[in-house]
Amino acid sequence: MTVTDLVSYEDALAAYDPVMGLEVHVELGTKTKMFCGCSTELKQDANSQTCPTCLGLPGSLPVVNATGVESAIKIGLALNCTIAEWCRFARKNYFYPDMPKNFQTSQYDEPIAFDGYLDVQLEDGEVFRVEIERAHMEEDTGKSTHVGGATGRIHGARHSLLDYNRAGIPLIEIVTKPIEGAGERAPEVAKAYVAELRELIKALGVSEARMEMGQMRCDVNLSLRPNGTQKFGTRSETKNVNSLRSVERAARFEIQRHAAVLSSGGTIIQETRHFHEEDGSTTSGRVKEEAEDYRYFPEPDLVPVAPSREWVEELRATLPELPRLRRNRLREEWGISEHDMQSILNAGAVDLITATVDAGADSAAARKWWMGELARRANEDGVELAALAITPEQVARIAALVAEGSLNDKLARQTFEGVLAGEGDPDTVVEKRGLKVVSDEGALGTAVDEAIAANAAIADKIRGGKVAAAGALVGAVMKATRGQADAARVRELILEKLGVEG
Ligand code: ADP
Ligand code: MG
Ligand code: ZN
Repeated sequence: MTVTDLVSYEDALAAYDPVMGLEVHVELGTKTKMFCGCSTELKQDANSQTCPTCLGLPGSLPVVNATGVESAIKIGLALNCTIAEWCRFARKNYFYPDMPKNFQTSQYDEPIAFDGYLDVQLEDGEVFRVEIERAHMEEDTGKSTHVGGATGRIHGARHSLLDYNRAGIPLIEIVTKPIEGAGERAPEVAKAYVAELRELIKALGVSEARMEMGQMRCDVNLSLRPNGTQKFGTRSETKNVNSLRSVERAARFEIQRHAAVLSSGGTIIQETRHFHEEDGSTTSGRVKEEAEDYRYFPEPDLVPVAPSREWVEELRATLPELPRLRRNRLREEWGISEHDMQSILNAGAVDLITATVDAGADSAAARKWWMGELARRANEDGVELAALAITPEQVARIAALVAEGSLNDKLARQTFEGVLAGEGDPDTVVEKRGLKVVSDEGALGTAVDEAIAANAAIADKIRGGKVAAAGALVGAVMKATRGQADAARVRELILEKLGVEG
């Protein structure tokens, strides 16, 4: 099926009602892997961070990472889930070289957290409740690189390389109940849910949840049923969608594709699909396994996890302010609209702007730089704001230099450029590049005198009361000082020297 075979979004919604299910995998930020002591820092050579346990060698035994369990409980509590009094790990058996054990240690019918919900806020301010089925612990797989084929996929490859550094890194999988009743806003709900979950995970401090780095990825399940009917249609499952925008686009595309198939009398097959950034389309992956295919059974090498109620309550007491409520509070403090806050959320800038304000900047200035100049730079470089080589403290320092008149906006932009280029702190960059606004009154006075002398006719007009003409002289002084003068002060000096009232 190509993009042109789609039914228009409006026509699809006129006939069908979408039902969605979102499965989000979050890579935890623990120091070591879930069942062994190997480091989770992926900086070194392939297979350098492995041991007999995560390589599945005979005789090795796994041990549960307590911080991993603690993080899972925190996530479960923040999602309003019940925390199991007792649960076990299970083996999910499959033969594929990305898991050297030939099974993935996961949880099956006994997840650590279940039956919760997350309230998400939509663009128009309405709150939509997404019900959570379960959150369970598992481990990540290794990474395969297929060499020799055109697409990087295994098809057509000559050989494959395997790196098990990632195998065994703790993952939490969070699965929603079927999301019904979102109607035409289903794609927006999907995006808002993933955005909210990302903020929650970050606020809990259990992961940086950087989607572009694969630390958080979403599978989008979607089906359609004829409007007015109850029974769910067959779902497709678009795997590993890794940006907020892509989650929204994948849901939208699948609605249009399902509608095209169904309205022409076809049937949807249950399968996984791949999402393509370039055109927002999805293509067929593999026919979906049923749970029975995995021959799940309880993991005999690990003791059950039985978190005491005291521990659970201790963890509940450490939960931070909910991101949605925090955003509403900040929105009022900063005096901005729902829509502006939504843009800040989608840009991943809430924490960055807050930290900049905490470092002393005015909130308007902090928003202006992060959502303007810095967002532009991040966009150009194709990275997230958080990945830019500048800290909130440095942004606050530049804002302070602007506020005290040492820099104007133009010079501030050059200072940002210097900091991002690794030339040092804002003060160092200003010093090295000679960016300070000329505020030395003597030097300014001389520059103003010269401008007046060189533009006698204009000066006369101003003396005669045509104050508006002062702009031309200000321009001349700014040019002479290479933009480094405080324009407002220059104007004052010109009027003063020509003896007219501003
Ligand atoms: P699997 O591991 O096979 O993908 P899960 O039950 O873990 O199955 O996840 C399926 C997800 O899809 C869940 O979020 C579930 O609520 C949702 N879901 C189940 N059936 C449907 C359906 N017919 N249409 C849309 N979503 C569905
Ligand atoms: Mg799934
Ligand atoms: Zn290991």
